[in-house]
Amino acid sequence: MDSDFNEWVKIALSDATFPQTLALDILSNPNLDLLCLVAAAGEVRMTYFGRQVMLHRINDIQNGLCPEDCGYCAQSKISDAPIKKYPLKSEEEIIQEAHEAKAKGVYRYCLVSSGRGPTADRTQHLAHIIRRIKTEVGIQTCLSAGLMDQEQATILKAAGLDRLNHNLNTSESHTPDIVTTHTFQDRINTLKAARSAGLDLCSGMIAGMGETDQDIVDVAYQLHQYQVPSIPINFLIPISGNPIYDCNQLTPQRCLRILCLFRFVNPKAEIRIGGGREGHLRGLQALALYPANSLFVEGYLATRGHSIDQVYQLIYDAGFEVAGDVSSSKNLSSTSQFQLDNNPNILNPLTTINSPNP
Ligand code: SF4
Repeated sequence: MDSDFNEWVKIALSDATFPQTLALDILSNPNLDLLCLVAAAGEVRMTYFGRQVMLHRINDIQNGLCPEDCGYCAQSKISDAPIKKYPLKSEEEIIQEAHEAKAKGVYRYCLVSSGRGPTADRTQHLAHIIRRIKTEVGIQTCLSAGLMDQEQATILKAAGLDRLNHNLNTSESHTPDIVTTHTFQDRINTLKAARSAGLDLCSGMIAGMGETDQDIVDVAYQLHQYQVPSIPINFLIPISGNPIYDCNQLTPQRCLRILCLFRFVNPKAEIRIGGGREGHLRGLQALALYPANSLFVEGYLATRGHSIDQVYQLIYDAGFEVAGDVSSSKNLSSTSQFQLDNNPNILNPLTTINSPNP
């Protein structure tokens, strides 16, 4: 590894703050050797997390019907995306799905509800559901339910909630370009309320919304300032009907650089590859496990993603391990079967020659 990268690793493994000029360099220097960068970020990741990958499963417990105007979101009041809208799922359905997630080896069950924020009644109801999940299922929980104050966060903490998710999404200066119904400061206030209530914080960003390199760097350092231990990095999924549709900014290599930047600036944080992993990282998904140590499985809010079996295969093929209880999926770790798109014709030369597009 280049001596510069050795120096970067040393800084990240010390308690020193990673220099902003180097952080910008990660995104903007075309001469940076990407493989060396990934290896260096991987060294930091291995120090704090070994080869373990944490799997998170989102349960979209309420979809659409949101009065906010986040331009990237298919659930917003200004989106024409043809999504399935539904009010809060039943308590029994949410708990049953928590059992299913645990049985599949999922580490953390993330309840996500659309809307500006929960009412007092809704907060009590969510607390009741979380209490049942903790006692009946016994899985790590995270809730993303919009803006909330310290009183609400305290009620959820008392019910057993482990983490509260509230993404910054982008920098303070870029926020008015993507949403007008709430402010960056509103989001910071929610994170402060959660921390005061004793909840773990989860907060990240969405890349690919027309932001500059500096915007991304600003988010990374804002999360560093609050010592956020869980950082999901989403890559904008182009959903037709959303005002912020496709800014044409993301390539697999840029996505890798963004993940490496977050690892160097937030070396001890759980860096999660969020929405858009499959479509934006494409063939570089395995390399992304070097800076990142966490993934979502089985899709996101309005879109599907790779199945849990595909994710296990990705992880084990790359030489990593799934964190937590994986007893139900151990057979996947030792598979040596040849697999190619489940298309038997590909293995038949005659078929391939006669039918170039089977
Ligand atoms: S991101 Fe959340 S608050 Fe914004 S429109 Fe979507 S559901 Fe509503």
